[in-house]
Amino acid sequence: MPGKMKNKLIVQKYGGTSIANTKKIKNVAGRIIEYTRRGNKVVAVVSAMGDTTDELVSLAKNINPEASEREMDMLLSTGEQISSSLLAMAIHKQGIESISFTGAQVGIITDTDHTQARILKIETDRIKKELTKGKIVIVAGFQGLSTALEITTLGRGGSDLSAVALAVALKADLCEIYTDVEGIFTADPRIISKARKLKYMGFDEMLELSSRGAQVMHTRAVEVAKKFNIPLHVRGSFTKKEGTIIMKDTPSLEEPVVRGITLDENEAKITLCNVLDKPGIAARVFNELASQDVNVDMIVQNVGRRKTTDISFTVPKKKLTKVLKLSRDLAKRLGSGDVIFDDKIAKVSIIGVGMKSHSGVAAKCFSILAKNKINIDMISTSEISISCVVKKEVGKKALKTLHKEFKLDKIKM
Ligand code: ADP
Ligand code: ASP
Ligand code: MG
Repeated sequence: MPGKMKNKLIVQKYGGTSIANTKKIKNVAGRIIEYTRRGNKVVAVVSAMGDTTDELVSLAKNINPEASEREMDMLLSTGEQISSSLLAMAIHKQGIESISFTGAQVGIITDTDHTQARILKIETDRIKKELTKGKIVIVAGFQGLSTALEITTLGRGGSDLSAVALAVALKADLCEIYTDVEGIFTADPRIISKARKLKYMGFDEMLELSSRGAQVMHTRAVEVAKKFNIPLHVRGSFTKKEGTIIMKDTPSLEEPVVRGITLDENEAKITLCNVLDKPGIAARVFNELASQDVNVDMIVQNVGRRKTTDISFTVPKKKLTKVLKLSRDLAKRLGSGDVIFDDKIAKVSIIGVGMKSHSGVAAKCFSILAKNKINIDMISTSEISISCVVKKEVGKKALKTLHKEFKLDKIKM
């Protein structure tokens, strides 16, 4: 709460919907100023306004569907440059000093992996100098400058990462992620109206939620927060209510077994049919995919009858064309059978650290789906999560039923 916080260094991140129009930008400006009136110093990281990034992507597609990643970064990084300068102007208008910067200007140095760059270091001198002058510093999120002096972006949703990395580099007292929902819920509150807001969430649970499709936090941002043990406060831009604190050791004495459910409709399944069932084949398939930067998620290999087997795996839908081409090429070289795909799948995952010490959670999950006549296509588990691939048309039903049957609508925060 602005009222309680005094003389702190705070990094705040405002997502696209929180600054979607000029009225909302003025609202954010007012919120930031309220913090500084209490003696706090604020560095605000912003995303692009509303759907700007999607619009820029489709502009590029209309011009050249195979635009180079370098040019995509040049284009997409402009969205955040617009919102950051407008926010600085909105703050000036209220008589307070503020300065906006691109990622490059504040020394966010990345590797050269365009569209998915990793932050290598942040030179904080420039920001510190402006803060000392009493200015509010606004930083364009989602971007940096590569070691080859090119503009890079950090992957979709990457402003979260900019904010967390800046909080680490500046040794901030607090990192707040402002978004269009009031915190982290047991499921996406836009799909499950009875989803409950959680007061606390552990880093590990949040990592699973993010990597299994809950868009609300960027996975790599949570990884960095965990690595440097920086608590994050995820909260709503349009309310003063407290949100969710993501931290190492949550204060609850005992956790409910399942605390979150996600639905991911952005993956596709590929099956390599009739692959020789002998040592080294799987290694070859997945080494080739890895060398082409394809992130494989779930993998299922059928029991080989005769001398061949089928291998299925899921990949992000946006990589489907590339992976199909690679797989067909590989199948030819391996002398295996057809390569088939299904892009109408959904992955539902249940998550909770309590699973570590409770048995029967997977059985319960499968029984719930069976009782509702939802067929499971693929399964994968980790210590604190269970994921099932189902047909896309029953994905939402699976999510809703699991949320209800695991009693997440009644969870105590
Ligand atoms: P921003 O633009 O602020 O970065 P995002 O759209 O990236 O916001 O993330 C916020 C969205 O995440 C929410 O609008 C909500 O629909 C979605 N979401 C998915 N799962 C969850 C969850 N478990 N809790 C809260 N929000 C979730
Ligand atoms: N504007 C970028 C995107 O839409 C980055 C972000 O919002 O965090 O992905
Ligand atoms: Mg986001």
